[in-house]
Amino acid sequence: MTQTQSGTGILAGEQRMLIDGELRHTDGGALFDVVHPGNEEVVGQVADGTTADMGRAVGAARRAFDDTDWSRDLDFRYHCLMQLHAALERNKERLRRIVVTEVGCPISVTGSQIEDPIDEVRHWAEHGRDFEYLVDTGIHKAPMGTARRTISYEPVGVVGAITPWNVPFYLNIAETVPALMAGNTVVLKPAQLTPWSGSELGRIIAEETDIPAGVFNVVTSNANEVGAALSADPRVDMITFTGSTATGRAILAAAAPTVKRTMMELGGKSAHIVLDDAKLEKCLPMAAMVACVMSGQACIMASRILLPRSRYDEGIEILKAAMAATAVGDPWDPAMLQGPQISETQRQKVLGLIRSGIDSGARLITGGGVPEALPVGYYTQPTLLADVDPDSQVAQEEIFGPVLTVIPYDTDDQAVAIANNSIYGLSGEVTGVDTERAFCIARRLRTGNVTVNGRSHFGITSPFGGTKQSGLGRRNGAEGFKEYLESKTIGHPA
Ligand code: NAD
Repeated sequence: MTQTQSGTGILAGEQRMLIDGELRHTDGGALFDVVHPGNEEVVGQVADGTTADMGRAVGAARRAFDDTDWSRDLDFRYHCLMQLHAALERNKERLRRIVVTEVGCPISVTGSQIEDPIDEVRHWAEHGRDFEYLVDTGIHKAPMGTARRTISYEPVGVVGAITPWNVPFYLNIAETVPALMAGNTVVLKPAQLTPWSGSELGRIIAEETDIPAGVFNVVTSNANEVGAALSADPRVDMITFTGSTATGRAILAAAAPTVKRTMMELGGKSAHIVLDDAKLEKCLPMAAMVACVMSGQACIMASRILLPRSRYDEGIEILKAAMAATAVGDPWDPAMLQGPQISETQRQKVLGLIRSGIDSGARLITGGGVPEALPVGYYTQPTLLADVDPDSQVAQEEIFGPVLTVIPYDTDDQAVAIANNSIYGLSGEVTGVDTERAFCIARRLRTGNVTVNGRSHFGITSPFGGTKQSGLGRRNGAEGFKEYLESKTIGHPA
């Protein structure tokens, strides 16, 4: 592990918010700092929006929904979103540098942060263009005579979108573009640590598309109250949120008095059941790589590895070698797989959970601290803990760091019980040569998504989301688009 090229490529993003079609600062011009996690330096600033700014943005979105044709003019929406797609393509390298600057994501793995969401804009434009908004369900018997019933799918209204810092540009697109294409108007509140992925989107929409004033608004802020104000505002019809389960609960409570529609993509603590016939030398290095890419800051990462006791020592050795060999360092260096944690607070949380695991009897196999060769930047060693108690804090709480916890099991039933022993239910993984057995076990996991034998469940055409305290509703797939629509059943003469 070496520290090289630190800071190469840093790029400051748009400082201004987008409110009612105007790129603007907050009254008084307050700004807050943006820090590059790779070298801990302040690399620029962004508008520190207030609850008053949020109020203006919500008012603009309300007017744009109620008083313009946006919600009814499908052709125009398609035109605007295809324009946005082209504009994002033009800005692609700029966006990539902004994401590496504020997230610290290694530049070598920015495909899912940049290319995928840009492709998704085109997908949603085409999906929305082709969607059947009126569905004739035929003739029904009714007390006053037979009725033909037609389902009319209509936009929900004003959508508040609140996003986290781990894949900020991707989630800003994933939360807002299907909402826009469905005919809603939007107020986006990006995460404090990654505001430019939101403010740049606002700039591009204002300068390079015909999206009308008020249809899309971005309010950056260093204060959680500004997101809370969006969640509670009675003029907002729906909140779409990605972030921690704790914040999700607060948003649900704030949205309850006005019974808003909510869509929640929350935390995870996914388990990977490695069956006794699995090819360990193939699946475990991949599991280690997934844990380190994005520094473990991925909601669907399988952080609990369940190994059969009969192959436990063999599995630990393979994981140890893979974790220890991970290239950790400067995110601008294309040879690096793992960059820093997003912040010192986040790194301390990860190190604290590792310590709690050791205190509760887990065996530290590799890592456990800060890489000696990387004293600057929020880097953490890839860490492997074995003999982890499935009920301990480190096995129950989301770590969001490059840490794998290994738990032994004796029977398939026991593996399923350990995997389901969690308040979360986002994702999971099962690996074994007998695919049918692996598939049957996948069906027993209480999660929204499962990968079997390395075949990813994730993609724009497949519904994605969590069960239990990992969330409500689904992104992606046909379900994901319908989340932003209300169905209205109209009974009318046959
Ligand atoms: P976070 O919950 O701390 O913050 C997310 C957003 O909520 C930020 O924009 C923040 O400003 C805002 N916020 C904070 N308090 C608020 C309040 N009271 N009212 C309204 N908004 C408020 O999450 P984070 O630390 O930014 O992101 C990491 C979390 O996101 C992890 O738990 C991770 O699992 C989760 N995540 C989930 C998915 C998924 O698809 N399930 C995807 C990515 C990240």
